[in-house]
Amino acid sequence: MSAEQVDLVIVGLGTAGAAAAALCAERGLRVVGIERRSLGESGARWVNGVPRWVFAHCGLASPGPGEGHACGVPFHMLAQRGPERSVITGHDLMEVEMPALTQRLLSKAERHGALLLDQASEVKVQGGDVQALVGTSTSRWQAKVVVDASGLKGLKLLRGQQDPGPLCAAAQQKRALLDPQAAAAFFAAHGVPSDQTLCFTGVAGGYSILNVQLHGGKVSILAGSVPALGHPSGLKILEAFAAEQPWIGEQLDGGARVVPLGAPLACIGQGQQVALGDAAGMVFSAHGSGIGQQLLAAHLLAQSLSEGQSAWQFNRRWQRERAGSLCAMVAFRALSQSLSEEELRAMMSSGVMGESLSRATLVQQDPVPSASEAITAVQGLARMPSLAKRMVPVLARMQALKAHHKRYPKEPAGLPRWERQRRALFGGIT
Ligand SMILES: Cc1cc2nc3c(=O)[nH]c(=O)nc-3n(C[C@H](O)[C@H](O)[C@H](O)COP(=O)(O)OP(=O)(O)OC[C@H]3O[C@@H](n4cnc5c(N)ncnc54)[C@H](O)[C@@H]3O)c2cc1C
Repeated sequence: MSAEQVDLVIVGLGTAGAAAAALCAERGLRVVGIERRSLGESGARWVNGVPRWVFAHCGLASPGPGEGHACGVPFHMLAQRGPERSVITGHDLMEVEMPALTQRLLSKAERHGALLLDQASEVKVQGGDVQALVGTSTSRWQAKVVVDASGLKGLKLLRGQQDPGPLCAAAQQKRALLDPQAAAAFFAAHGVPSDQTLCFTGVAGGYSILNVQLHGGKVSILAGSVPALGHPSGLKILEAFAAEQPWIGEQLDGGARVVPLGAPLACIGQGQQVALGDAAGMVFSAHGSGIGQQLLAAHLLAQSLSEGQSAWQFNRRWQRERAGSLCAMVAFRALSQSLSEEELRAMMSSGVMGESLSRATLVQQDPVPSASEAITAVQGLARMPSLAKRMVPVLARMQALKAHHKRYPKEPAGLPRWERQRRALFGGIT
């Protein structure tokens, strides 16, 4: 069977694949996208928090009405059920309806000439050669680059047998709001206006959250945890909370899945292959957020390939620009999952977890604390010597990981040594 020559074949059209298809086709690359499900059903089927700056950075319009809402509403992060908290204002996180965003990206890809095929099965990839059964016939392409955007459990083209690290079991649902007054009273009892975000952290211990919002006459609930640490899954946390609140009714939509929290792959582009999104472990580990990171990576991929760069050159740019911060967050998340209830409360009340650190973490940027915030944090840590003893080495490790990614090797031959050094810097953290 003869193979059609194209620039890119993208396998998996969730957000990562859809973004890559849209941004690469927009730059004039010949793109084929193949998806196992139907196109209206691909990728995440729930609401995700995504920072608005990411859309602007990627040259994408910000989500409009029907796709995005609640941009920048104050975010109340309580230590367990409170009262200690950090209130984050002046941020640009927005709630995004993932089916609408994915559809927008797929439509943009098609408008720019991408060929998108759904219900594909028996996808086989060898180098740049891709074969898939679509309907009753088998198609074949020879691509300059094949993008694995097939998620955590997909093709594993570059991941192979590598362990994705701890998994966050997350669930997000919209539910009927049965009694708005009782809901407002619940928010008021926690000192939160009912049009703002109420987030209980460490709600089931360690790395676990429960996040509640009222919007459009519905209740939006997100919960997540790492079951391997002995906590109930996000879905169980969510269902237990909904069952104990009489103002919350039946589930209207949403979904549940695991999110990889470990370090991203040390190589996301080599030869003719690239990995994007969950397939590459491209997740901001502190809160298990993948969308912002995969949009940024898809944008960089489009830029690199349209400038004539190779998969390896794209990989090197991404490792140097983005991966160091993601790895630093892996170390930060590992510390956060070890916090006791008292430490979590003390961190929030003492200013160690100040507003600019919380804001930067929420919107996936590096924190730049003011001098007074830094002094408050240091004074707070001085009052918690046992936490300080654990935290200071983690802060040093975070900086070292960032610096190490800036020294990403020029050639693939340097990768094994660089990767060994990266493993040593993690010091057993996963
Ligand atoms: C409940 C929940 C809440 C979350 N909240 C947030 C949040 O607030 N903010 C945030 O940024 N992130 C959040 N995340 C994480 C985010 O949703 C994921 O990181 C993201 O959806 C992963 O996108 P992806 O395109 O890489 O993979 P996927 O969404 O898994 O898409 C992969 C696609 O590939 C297709 N596929 C698989 N195998 C094949 C194959 N062999 N051939 C063809 N197609 C294939 C699949 O059908 C699928 O459509 C959350 C996750 C969950 C579960």
